[in-house]
Amino acid sequence: MSSNRTSKIPREIKIEKVEKPSYVVDRSKLRRFNSKNIIFERVMWDSSWEGYMRMYDEKVFKVIAEGKPGYSRVDFALAYASWIVHDAFEGGFSSTKIKTYRTPVDTIGIDWTRTKYEVDDLHKMSAYVKRAAWFFGASLIGICKLNRYWLYADVDIPEKFENVVVMAIEMDADAIATSPAAPAAAATGVGYSKMAFILACMGEFIRNLGYEAIQCGNDTALSIPLAIDAGLGELGRNGLLITPQYGPRVRLCKIFTDVPLEPDKPIEFGVNEFCKKCKLCAKHCEVDAISIDDEPSFEVVCRSNNPGALKWYVDVERCYLYWRENGIDCSTCIKVCPYNVTLAREASLSSSEFWECTQKQEI
Ligand code: SF4
Ligand code: SF4
Repeated sequence: MSSNRTSKIPREIKIEKVEKPSYVVDRSKLRRFNSKNIIFERVMWDSSWEGYMRMYDEKVFKVIAEGKPGYSRVDFALAYASWIVHDAFEGGFSSTKIKTYRTPVDTIGIDWTRTKYEVDDLHKMSAYVKRAAWFFGASLIGICKLNRYWLYADVDIPEKFENVVVMAIEMDADAIATSPAAPAAAATGVGYSKMAFILACMGEFIRNLGYEAIQCGNDTALSIPLAIDAGLGELGRNGLLITPQYGPRVRLCKIFTDVPLEPDKPIEFGVNEFCKKCKLCAKHCEVDAISIDDEPSFEVVCRSNNPGALKWYVDVERCYLYWRENGIDCSTCIKVCPYNVTLAREASLSSSEFWECTQKQEI
């Protein structure tokens, strides 16, 4: 692992709208990914690898007892609290009208789903959808036609869901800057909890116009290629979406819908060429889970990779095992990425600095 930070992206990122997404796929190798191979699923069933049944709480108390900065009871309390809306609110990931636990007086007698709002201008309708998503808290919003290659092999959705609204949610820069300490993991949890809120509001917004919406986090389909199709960014060496606005410091979610919408064009801003030389994420990864090769390839490195795309495949098995040793998940390949660093306030922050900036904001 190197501690030298050398890569710098040009101050001004030049974004070009392009006709085709920037990824390269080999159709003869490309398969729809089976969701049972998602690393978190394999923890539950795949006894052939080391991470089988190794859960999040495995080393938490040992790690807290070691007394390292950023790994205190307070830091873990923050991280575990951050997930609560995601974990407790079922409505976040609904595909039908969300049931409420009380009947609000303002909706008695109204069934929005009985009539459809007539869409005669795709551009205007797309603008409404994007404005609503931004209003509800999404940081970036793009629209694409559904490429069914990105649906998980074990799921299918009706043909009428041909449009995808892809949303990116910015994660807190100060917290991510503490990675691999617990406040960084809290930023991830907040991203997921915000996702539940935004998805629920957006799903209901679409249903109130008489259309259907399937609200998805990481489930149902691969989010990154959909986000690339929708013009939100490009794929980085770290296996994450790199956005021009926040680098990889975002969480992704999406809604499949039958509302008539206008797709966005994909974008390019030089990520692939920059990643060939930069390699900071690979150098900073504690367990060498990210390829250091100059060129991307079609060679997968573990069962949780999806073959058929030209990229730097990430060894997510190693990554997961490091998370268990660390006591909590890591975001170092997000933290050090120059596309994040040039935009975030600080590249690296100690956990005590993280708590201090929170206090300053409260005064
Ligand atoms: S999240 Fe995983 S791949 Fe990224 S730096 Fe941490 S251990 Fe490495
Ligand atoms: S993804 Fe990795 S190689 Fe690419 S710019 Fe970010 S840190 Fe550098």
